[in-house]
Amino acid sequence: MLNKVKSFMKEIVEKNPAEKEFHQAVQEVVESIMPFLEKHPKYAKAKMLERITEPERVVMFRVPWVDDSGEIQVNRGYRIEMNSAIGPYKGGLRFHSTVNLGILKFLAFEQVFKNSLTTLPMGGGKGGSNFDPKGKSDNEVMKFCQSFMTELFRHIGPDTDVPAGDIGVGGREIGYLFGQYKRLRNEFTGVLTGKGLGWGGSLIRPEATGYGAVYFAEEMLKTKGKSIKGKVCTVSGSGNVAQYTVEKINQLGGKAVTLSDSSGFVYDKKGIDAKKLEFVMELKNVKRGRIKEYAKKYNAEYYEAGKKWPWDIKCDVAFPSATQNEVHKKDAKTLVKNGCMCVSEGANMPSTPEAVEVFQKAKVLYGPGKAANAGGVAVSGLEMSQNSLRLSWTREEVDRRLRDITIAIHDTCLKYGKEKNHVDYVKGANIGGFVKVADAMIEQGVV
Ligand code: NDP
Repeated sequence: MLNKVKSFMKEIVEKNPAEKEFHQAVQEVVESIMPFLEKHPKYAKAKMLERITEPERVVMFRVPWVDDSGEIQVNRGYRIEMNSAIGPYKGGLRFHSTVNLGILKFLAFEQVFKNSLTTLPMGGGKGGSNFDPKGKSDNEVMKFCQSFMTELFRHIGPDTDVPAGDIGVGGREIGYLFGQYKRLRNEFTGVLTGKGLGWGGSLIRPEATGYGAVYFAEEMLKTKGKSIKGKVCTVSGSGNVAQYTVEKINQLGGKAVTLSDSSGFVYDKKGIDAKKLEFVMELKNVKRGRIKEYAKKYNAEYYEAGKKWPWDIKCDVAFPSATQNEVHKKDAKTLVKNGCMCVSEGANMPSTPEAVEVFQKAKVLYGPGKAANAGGVAVSGLEMSQNSLRLSWTREEVDRRLRDITIAIHDTCLKYGKEKNHVDYVKGANIGGFVKVADAMIEQGVV
């Protein structure tokens, strides 16, 4: 088995050099589904692993724009159209200085499995640019978004590829992108999700990823007769996912004690309550300031990045919600030593493979991103449905569907990942996500 994984990975590395995050994401999936493939030879015969790891299409393009001082800037844009076996490509756009082909391919690959788990008809894709909106004026962000869409518009569409937000792409950016798409196509369609409420957006979409990660934690805890109520929770990040993770933890009676950004993290022993969260939302979404200001305002502890991490704080449940590979082996060991019983990943692949191993060995309830943060794309799928119906569902209706989908994802993880006295959610999510896509690909022939 080990040899088969090794030789498959050798090919992946040779074919996709210098894409280490993509290798990491593929390795995790291949390791957990290889035993399943051995028992079901039809997938090997159909060359399913080889096909599913090859994007259907990759678009890379120049994004020129003029900054406020009149200087020409050039960024690189991408869209990875990974798999459309069960629906139009669907997945976010990331604007961040670290963005490269390997990172977007890892995200697009994960998205295929995640979208399949949601039970909704969505294929997988991802895109973005090495443009970083941090420190840019609204005018510069608009100019960039318009230039980005001036190329992207010819590759996407409501029945082809429907992008959404991710790191650095929130309501403001989706607005500018949508405006330019509409202008170029002369069409008002549901081509993006995460839209404003007044022009086709869905209630609960901004909240969905964070809420979903907490609902998923609640489902995992339930298997041990426990719940979020009364639990101390550490959260990393302070963007979209982190903010609504804290909101839902509060609503369910837990206590969130940390938030971070790339400069450092705050530790508020008393808990980040609704009022303090309002301050964070204003700070991050409107003033676009740094989390350090929270520590000043509420007399909380602040640690610069690199000195200490949210994972050094004692907690019952951890919600990594910033970025990939932010939980290392030593962090995982500290979490386990301090009695952390559950990890629900709001971010995509935030734990390194070595950290995941520590969680698995310690039998921590570990929900990998593709299952735990699927609530975001699920509500994006619901936004697509509402756009097609030209109807808007109530907050309660969307929230109920989000909860039902979370339960369905958890059930799939149990179905494929249940072991004696333990659930392997990595295996459950990977096999569960794979089967639906692979069966659809077999039924559709060699395309
Ligand atoms: P935001 O841009 O709203 O927030 C990102 C947060 O993470 C910020 O606090 C940011 O700090 C921090 N961060 C980003 N990159 C780094 C880094 N390299 N090192 C340290 N901190 C970093 O993004 P989201 O909240 O939307 O996304 C967070 C995670 O959740 C990502 O992994 C994303 O892929 C995942 N996700 C998001 C979904 C969504 O619906 N938005 C859906 C599913 C998953 P700073 O401002 O200093 O950069």
